[in-house]
Amino acid sequence: MKGLMMDTPLLIPSLIGHAARCHAEVEICSLTVEGPMHRYGWGDCYARVQRLANALRSLGVEDGDRIATLAWNGYRHLELYYGVSGMGAVCHTVNPRLFADQIAYILNHAADRFIFVDLSFVALLEGLIDRLARVEGVVIMTDEAHMPKTSLPNVLCYETLLAAEADHYDWPMLDERSASALCYTSGTTGNPKGTLYSHRSTVLHALGILIGSFALSGDDVVLPVVPLFHVQSWGIPHAAPLVGAKLVFNGPHFDGETLQRLFEEEQVTVSLGVPTIWLGLLDYLRQSGKRIDSLRMLISGGAAPPLSMVEAIERDYGVPINHGWGMTETSPVAAAGINPRRLAGLAPDDRIKAKLKQGQALYGVDMKIVDDDGNRLPHDGKAAGELLVRGPWVTSGYYNDPAANADAFDAEGWFRTGDVASIEPDHHILITDRSKDLIKSGGEWISSIDLENTAMGHPDVAEAAAIAMPHPKWGERPLLVVVARDGAAPDKEGILAYLEDKIAKWWLPDDVVFTREIPHTATGKISKLKLRRIYKDYVLPTVERAP
Ligand code: AMP
Repeated sequence: MKGLMMDTPLLIPSLIGHAARCHAEVEICSLTVEGPMHRYGWGDCYARVQRLANALRSLGVEDGDRIATLAWNGYRHLELYYGVSGMGAVCHTVNPRLFADQIAYILNHAADRFIFVDLSFVALLEGLIDRLARVEGVVIMTDEAHMPKTSLPNVLCYETLLAAEADHYDWPMLDERSASALCYTSGTTGNPKGTLYSHRSTVLHALGILIGSFALSGDDVVLPVVPLFHVQSWGIPHAAPLVGAKLVFNGPHFDGETLQRLFEEEQVTVSLGVPTIWLGLLDYLRQSGKRIDSLRMLISGGAAPPLSMVEAIERDYGVPINHGWGMTETSPVAAAGINPRRLAGLAPDDRIKAKLKQGQALYGVDMKIVDDDGNRLPHDGKAAGELLVRGPWVTSGYYNDPAANADAFDAEGWFRTGDVASIEPDHHILITDRSKDLIKSGGEWISSIDLENTAMGHPDVAEAAAIAMPHPKWGERPLLVVVARDGAAPDKEGILAYLEDKIAKWWLPDDVVFTREIPHTATGKISKLKLRRIYKDYVLPTVERAP
């Protein structure tokens, strides 16, 4: 028997429509590329979103067309999230930090019809445009006064486009499973792969993170440092309007000084970013003696945070860390936060250590771990295997990419994450490594993440990365690549001595080398691929450490 309730589709405009009705005056503040801080409320934002939807229709944009953005976090980018998806097209956020070749590949693969670009990326696009056969026009996200001279063909000005349109739009009653947004993951090998979100997945993800440990409210002032151009800024643009939270965007500024200033001036209560951002902020706080007292929570994700970072933020600055895990393919948040009941029973040191776990699976996300043959492993917090997930905001296939889809799912349709994890009986997870990054020594696994993060606790180490080096006897042994802190001169012996009582003896790297810079991917993670290439001819010294 079918239930007798309305089948109202879950559509993205409903989120901002709600904010405009209930929280019209709550501010969205953006540090702009042009310079000054821009401020308006959710009500004004919604009016401009409707102007934008009208403008897109005037440009001939149709259902399912892909519209690309190359932009920082800011109010115009937020308007594109709603205007493009809402009128039935697909908002394709492109990561401007990727290599030019990858950006060209992505724009061509998605066959974007129009590109909306921040002033900062006009030159980048000028260098690519000849390779983009399908692009019909470029909209520069500024006003007439700031329009640059450009060689780009068919250029329009964002503000002029909006000014010509009405601020009312009749949103189409789309199928909630229609595509709403597209985001390519950088991937460590091969071409980037596209994750195609739907209205339904996006609305459910927004609700999912709000009932999980992100739990924002109308009292919150949220600064997502995590970019709108990658993994939908962890769902904040869609979750904040639901509860009427104030939003603060940092525009093109990611340095600790700007972030601390914004925290203080706007009385930010919650901020989200990758550990690299928080390490930069910590450095600035230590140098300047400034504080971050308005914050009630820092959300860290995208990579495992070093214990020393969690300790410093929680102990020295009194701000609880909320650690989460997810992927582009999981919208992205799939697990976050340690259950408060569990934290309550722990001693202060153990509470901090517990934060190194990636959190508890969110409602809606099923998880399992499997061995090399695909057999399920127990959820006992000990067994570790590849993590697979499924749920209404997990991808069911990459966009137009049969090769990538071939081995992305198991026989039961679960998505293979490529991460190695253990799962506790109450579904807290601990990511021990990425399957591609594990170091297998004499048949035993060494976690490069643990090794790196332990090494980063050394006071003279700014950053460290562990990679597997071929070894004639043990198969692989770890090499530790270290960047020293400014003004410090750590040596190999000192680092090995520091590590000695913190990790198993056979985990000790066979060698420690020093470098000025460790390569990162466009999303700020250590690029193991590049690092392995750099050290491909390196030969480990003979030591006898493995089991
Ligand atoms: P991306 O799709 O670029 O967001 O990358 C997703 C990948 O980042 C995951 O598969 C993990 O390998 C890694 N990752 C994300 N969050 C965490 C975390 N909290 N701890 C460790 N690795 C993480």
